[in-house]
Amino acid sequence: MLVRLTDAWQDILARRAANSETGAYPAPVRQLLGEMAAAGVLMQGNIKFNGALVLQIFGDGPVKLGVVEVQPDLSLRATCTQVGKVADDATLSQMVNVNNEGRCAITLDPQDRLPGQQPYQGVVPLFGDRGEKLENISEVLEHYMLQSEQLDTVLVLAADDKVAAGLLIQRLPIEGESNLAGQVDSLMRESVLGQSEDFSRISILTKSIKREELLGLDAETILHRLYWEEPLARFEPFIGETGPRFACRCNRERVRNMIRSLGTEEVEGIIAEQGQVEVGCDFCGAQYRFDPVDAAGLFTGLPTDLHPGSVH
Ligand SMILES: [Zn+2]
Repeated sequence: MLVRLTDAWQDILARRAANSETGAYPAPVRQLLGEMAAAGVLMQGNIKFNGALVLQIFGDGPVKLGVVEVQPDLSLRATCTQVGKVADDATLSQMVNVNNEGRCAITLDPQDRLPGQQPYQGVVPLFGDRGEKLENISEVLEHYMLQSEQLDTVLVLAADDKVAAGLLIQRLPIEGESNLAGQVDSLMRESVLGQSEDFSRISILTKSIKREELLGLDAETILHRLYWEEPLARFEPFIGETGPRFACRCNRERVRNMIRSLGTEEVEGIIAEQGQVEVGCDFCGAQYRFDPVDAAGLFTGLPTDLHPGSVH
């Protein structure tokens, strides 16, 4: 599976650059978030989950949080929280794994989640099998997929200021592979072996792709350049309205609920200090403003909203 985010990715970057408080992402952060965005789309496209797939990185360095959320229709949003300076040549571990506490979380949040039902979450550390710090988010996610799906996976990711791209190769389980030992006949064994040779050859070809190729070449060219000796069948690409595109899910009602949860006292304090309550969305940059009258209105609704047993 190959993903190439252009407009969606440029939209995410432009919204960040337009934020006067944060400014644009430094190049290494941009690369990290772009690779996460491409990976999120590949993973959602791969498992076709009926709900949001959320890819997060929790950092203990200057990058505190990176989030990519991909919906089943492949609409996505992404943001990074950075505190302090990121050097132009910062590595992954220098950004998010300085004190060995960085981690990556993959959350599957079902669309029709029942009240009280927790979303599924898998957490992986940013270390390899030999305890070495991983410097590519692709390796972190390969580990995750091997653990969670028990499937050999090769993931190649790249991002710059125009394109976020990724290539995912996975070995599909073949019929009979899960049979208990001894029940697999010799023909099947041969075919398992053959399949695994195919997979290693295709893995090697996949890993040979250069960053500039993944970013600069179209899908057709990449497929032919890498797998020209393989029989290829190409599926219809998802583009435009059916493809990955930027979409934010914030709205005034959600912000109202969030402000309400702060409590009257806290909100009155903010009004006294700043004259209004202002909340910005980190994903799309939308600003939600509540003047003293709006803010008071948030709480006058309380008596009718207050149901026995509800928590405020
Ligand atoms: Zn938003």
